[in-house]
Amino acid sequence: MTSFVVDAMLGKVALWLRLAGKDTIYSPDINDDELLEIAKNQNRILLTSDAELHNRAEEACLETMLLRGTADQRVAAVFHQFSINPKIDPSKSRCSKCNGILTEIDSSDKERIKDLVFEQTYNHYDRFWLCNECRRVFFQGGQWTNISKYMKRIERMIQMLKETIQPL
Ligand SMILES: [Zn+2]
Repeated sequence: MTSFVVDAMLGKVALWLRLAGKDTIYSPDINDDELLEIAKNQNRILLTSDAELHNRAEEACLETMLLRGTADQRVAAVFHQFSINPKIDPSKSRCSKCNGILTEIDSSDKERIKDLVFEQTYNHYDRFWLCNECRRVFFQGGQWTNISKYMKRIERMIQMLKETIQPL
């Protein structure tokens, strides 16, 4: 399965890749040498907005993509390039904060997360996702509408990229 390592400038790209279920290493503190090492040792695709780093990766025969434009254009370009479906299924998502794998919690074992969320949230929802690494809990709250809206926008941008005739 395709996995990524993303430079410090591309936090938004990392966030959406994780939500889309892609194993994505990102930290604002990783330097260029470390990024190249991770890409090489873990066989990850290096996404960067830095032309120099992109060149270094190519010279080292690593799979890499140089991202340009606005944050949204970058997200759309990556989803397009790697044929990632712009639909978020939280059962497949990675933790947006730490890239950990999520465990789905339904009403039958809901008690497991009782101490990790506000009481109101606990009472209101029956489906949660617990990060195995950082123990954060996710649920389809108010922000879910924004996630869906944003993905619709990315879907339209991908469609435009598909319709653009690429010069040879
Ligand atoms: Zn986590």
